[in-house]
Amino acid sequence: MTNQTIENLVIIGSGPAGYTAAIYAARANLKPVMFEGLQAGGIPGGQLMTTTEVENFPGFPDGITGPQLMERMKGQAIRWGTECYTEDVVEVDLSKRPFTVRSKEREVQTHSIIIATGATAKRLNLPSEKIYWNNGISACAICDGASPLFIGEELVVIGGGDSATEEAVYLTKYGSHVHLLVRKHELRASKAMQDRVLNNPKITVHWNTEAVDVFGENGRMSGIRIRNNQTGVEQEIKAKGLFYAIGHNPNTSLFKGQLELDEVGYLVVKPGTVQTSVEGVYAAGDVQDHEYRQAITAAGTGCMAALSAERWLSEHNLITEYHQKVSGEVQEQTEVVETEHQADTEETFDLNATRHYGGYALRRLFHESDRVLMVKYVSPTCGPCKTLKPILDKLVEEYEGKIHFIEIDIVAEPEIAKMGQVIGTPTIQFFRNQELVQELKGVKQKSEYRQVIENYLPVGVKASV
Ligand SMILES: Cc1cc2nc3c(=O)[nH]c(=O)nc-3n(C[C@H](O)[C@H](O)[C@H](O)COP(=O)(O)OP(=O)(O)OC[C@H]3O[C@@H](n4cnc5c(N)ncnc54)[C@H](O)[C@@H]3O)c2cc1C
Repeated sequence: MTNQTIENLVIIGSGPAGYTAAIYAARANLKPVMFEGLQAGGIPGGQLMTTTEVENFPGFPDGITGPQLMERMKGQAIRWGTECYTEDVVEVDLSKRPFTVRSKEREVQTHSIIIATGATAKRLNLPSEKIYWNNGISACAICDGASPLFIGEELVVIGGGDSATEEAVYLTKYGSHVHLLVRKHELRASKAMQDRVLNNPKITVHWNTEAVDVFGENGRMSGIRIRNNQTGVEQEIKAKGLFYAIGHNPNTSLFKGQLELDEVGYLVVKPGTVQTSVEGVYAAGDVQDHEYRQAITAAGTGCMAALSAERWLSEHNLITEYHQKVSGEVQEQTEVVETEHQADTEETFDLNATRHYGGYALRRLFHESDRVLMVKYVSPTCGPCKTLKPILDKLVEEYEGKIHFIEIDIVAEPEIAKMGQVIGTPTIQFFRNQELVQELKGVKQKSEYRQVIENYLPVGVKASV
């Protein structure tokens, strides 16, 4: 679809940098268009969607979870009129003005751009990594650690920084023991995190140690071979989970050949500014910052980028102003109401209802449903689960009365998740006639879930809207 309007500003990325830029630009009446991302470089909301407590973002003396913080930033950006698309940008053309930004669904012309695409977790590319990815190996302990398949098992974390130490401590809640593999003879993490790891009897630190490969049985990881890089001695650890916390790569492949990048791939900005090598294009957050990489610094540079874009647009007489509604009206649109759902019981279960919650409903529907059965497995601390919620809520509405939909909290009902062989959240399983027909892990485009439903709907049955 081609939109002929030329936008004031497109923001690519929805981490702290992107949302802060959006808040400032929207309040300046620029009505920014934001591509929040989906899969290409992390998830909507960015890296903080994969963590639990954020203790150092000013304004939250008791801390706040990463997903909650990002939900609030998003609410503030939308409140002031940001137009959000939960899509990946697949191409940009900075060679002529207005610039062009494309996703698979749309093409947008814009006078200015803020790049806030952040960074993606690195992988080690171990020889058997592909086989056991999502079958034991994960890059997000916070998302996947609560899976029943890891509970009471030995687990391994690789890395020596703050993320690795935070994840090792977090995993002691679930695993019987956590092995932290550190390539050097010291940790890079803050002193406070070092103390927490070194004083925790459930964590063993393996110094000067590297992973050689993972191994397993029946497609599930069951251990890791490690090598001491000083002595060359190899040994095996029997572990059911391996969590990478080895840093990030900046998400800049879209801009190669169009903007100046440094040798690692970070966007280069003029010192003390957020100006890239092309006028009217700004870079904010981790995508241009290999030194600080914090939510608050990302937000700070997001603010700088929005103010710089506004000034540049104004100097070049390019601004089209969009005036705000009065704040009371705007507030109403964005109030987020989190509803606590009660699990179905024998008394409340209704076979005709589309939406259900909990293991009782799953057992009943597995045997009694004559519709496509869609089971969503989530966990309370999982940021991607929050991202997926509005996507699936809308989809389920489209198939009201045509499918059955059940949500299972894997922390509340670990035995159900174990039966379903669920390793991480969110996981969506589709059943037809008591048979598992497809499984989708992580957050996907709405169209992918729709396609699976359509594949298994009886002939002649269509979506309601
Ligand atoms: C486990 C963990 C814990 C952390 N804890 C803290 C903490 O306690 N305090 C703190 O200050 N910092 C913490 N950080 C660091 C902090 O999360 C980052 O510094 C911050 O998120 C960077 O923000 P950003 O906006 O630059 O990018 P990101 O948060 O990385 O967001 C990038 C965004 O760009 C999007 N994107 C990427 N490619 C595309 C594309 N092609 N099209 C559209 N969108 C795209 C992604 O979907 C995402 O929305 C933590 C990081 C991790 C991994």
